[in-house]
Amino acid sequence: MRTPDCFDRVSLGVFPTPIQRLDNISALLGVNVYIKRDDLTGLGLGGNKVRKLEFLLADARRQGAEVVFTTGGAQSNHAMLTAAAAARLGMRAILILKKRGVTACLGNQLLERLMGTQVIFMDTDDYADIYAEMDRLGAKLGVPCYKIPCGGSNALGTLGYVDCAREIAGQGPRFDHIVCAEGSGGTLAGLALGAKLFLPGTRVYGMMVDTDPFDEITPRLMRGAAELMQADVNIGPGDFELRDMCGPGYAIASEAGNAAVSMMAEREGIFLDPVYTGKAFAGLVAMAREGRFAPHDNVLFVHTGGAGGLFAVMQEN
Ligand SMILES: *Cc1c(COP(=O)(O)O)cnc(C)c1O
Repeated sequence: MRTPDCFDRVSLGVFPTPIQRLDNISALLGVNVYIKRDDLTGLGLGGNKVRKLEFLLADARRQGAEVVFTTGGAQSNHAMLTAAAAARLGMRAILILKKRGVTACLGNQLLERLMGTQVIFMDTDDYADIYAEMDRLGAKLGVPCYKIPCGGSNALGTLGYVDCAREIAGQGPRFDHIVCAEGSGGTLAGLALGAKLFLPGTRVYGMMVDTDPFDEITPRLMRGAAELMQADVNIGPGDFELRDMCGPGYAIASEAGNAAVSMMAEREGIFLDPVYTGKAFAGLVAMAREGRFAPHDNVLFVHTGGAGGLFAVMQEN
């Protein structure tokens, strides 16, 4: 098997990220809750996309790309971090974003302004239109271009979270459950595949913050990553569990999510975001209250970042 460290990678972040016990929330919920601080990955304002971009941009560089295209919503953390990574690596990022959500100069839009990133808004609901526009613009520019899909979620990007599972296995304690947000799929798919390989017996849960068919997307990404790694594993629906935490819609704050953002801020001094991690942590709280965890279980919440959204989306609601 080719583990993730057999693949080319550019160094963008600071790893391993810490794992901390949330003493106050553990006492409140009656279960041992830990947090994996992937909000502290060390590029931009941190977040999960840094792990994926280390693999994706190594591939871009190997192919001689001068321009990196990516996409997402108006407040995409992934797009902002791609621009930050490109700046570090001396590449030019062009972001073609859906004209959905908060397009004002707040949050990630402000950060992109500060980096001088070229941002194009496209009035479409279909990413196929955006990828076609990347091809058109790339041909016009006439320089080598590299396209990164929404959220960095392809087989190569997924390796970032297979590697995160390996990192967790080396840090301890032993976790019975790992919980993360699911937006484009790569994080959950990587953790679920990584748990099969490096964390036997650990259950992995994806808290869905969008309405895409994650029951199909997740195993497809897991299979793609397993194929790259030449890993001999059987992937099936039992490898992860999904829960719908989307509420009123993608990138629209929910009541449960906002309550979780407040709980984490008030009791632990850690900031979640309204689009991803607040909704995901609300899912963990709901499971604890439903008695889904045994009192001595160790539950790990993966804080995937999202600080940019905190300064744009919550203000709107
Ligand atoms: C993108 C993102 C996620 C979701 O990760 P996926 O790999 O896209 O499913 C979670 N949290 C934050 C803050 C993100 O930016």
